Amino acid sequence: MRREFERLPSLITVAPMVLSGVLFLLRALRAAWGMLMGQENPGDLSRTAAFGTFLMGMVFMQLLQNVSLGGVVVTRLMARIRHLSDTDALTGLANRLRLQETLKGEALRHRRNGHAYSVALLDVDHFKSVNDTHGHAAGDQALRAVAEVLKRTARTSDTVGRLGGEEFCVVLPETAETGARALAERARVALKDEAIVFEQRQIRLTASFGVATCTDPQEDWAALLKRADVALYRAKSGGRNRIES
Ligand code: GH3
Ligand code: MG
Ligand code: MG
Repeated sequence: MRREFERLPSLITVAPMVLSGVLFLLRALRAAWGMLMGQENPGDLSRTAAFGTFLMGMVFMQLLQNVSLGGVVVTRLMARIRHLSDTDALTGLANRLRLQETLKGEALRHRRNGHAYSVALLDVDHFKSVNDTHGHAAGDQALRAVAEVLKRTARTSDTVGRLGGEEFCVVLPETAETGARALAERARVALKDEAIVFEQRQIRLTASFGVATCTDPQEDWAALLKRADVALYRAKSGGRNRIES
């Protein structure tokens, strides 16, 4: 709930659940104590004077709990909708929307603390021929394999996403050009060496990379992405399976 709401609304929503839990625990303890003391029917409140108040309290608690459960359902729905709207369906990576949000966040952070951040773009080489030779399903399988390689090579603080088609993007917070190029090189080698198997056939892939690092607080994320794209284009025209920055 804390991911979707502020602290206070979250606490208010779960409070009835916690309160009920505590009250039932107290009741159980009281009954257990009564049992130890040798009382007859120790958990039975119906003979006590406070029984009416107890029943009213129970009804009130039930109402609160229903509101609480409603809150939990809404929260889960919101989390599900958010997941569907910012996740790539084929690979499970961040989609273009989440990549953009991440880049905007990094641009703001850069303006605050001045630390460099980078993006690495990846475009699979001659991917059309994978589809043409092995079929679209094999192409999809290959794209999932690229996603796995990128997830394996990136750090947990990096955001790995698919921009669309056979184009991927890694956002690297607090990373200067050397670090970003190092990641791209690790991913390039890992992908080149990856044996992708589809229906007993092996598919080999390479990819080209464009890396750009932001060191200018005036540069917005779109301009940074554009620079990475220009570098990627250079990597393509320079012979593919290489990194440019
Ligand atoms: P280059 O080395 O210049 O990048 O060549 P390329 O063949 O990779 O580039 P091109 O842009 O000509 O082809 C991209 C292909 O990617 C064409 C399209 O059919 C395929 N593609 C895009 N999205 C998907 C997808 O989700 N699944 C599959 N299987 N193929 C896809
Ligand atoms: Mg492409
Ligand atoms: Mg391509």
